[in-house]
Amino acid sequence: MTCRETVRLICEYLEGRLSPSVAAVVSRHLECCANCHLVLEAAQQTLDVYFDDHPDVQKIRVA
Ligand SMILES: [Zn+2]
Repeated sequence: MTCRETVRLICEYLEGRLSPSVAAVVSRHLECCANCHLVLEAAQQTLDVYFDDHPDVQKIRVA
């Protein structure tokens, strides 16, 4: 798994949309790659801020 592929999958990884085998490969890469780990943390914070500021997002999505 290359860094480019990992970064592209990070959003789906955080949303739990990857298959378990792909998620495991991404997870392994993130553990040993500082650059991708930074991207993961930034993406995680972005999602946290987004959902904190928009409590209705989940409801809208389901509806
Ligand atoms: Zn990487």
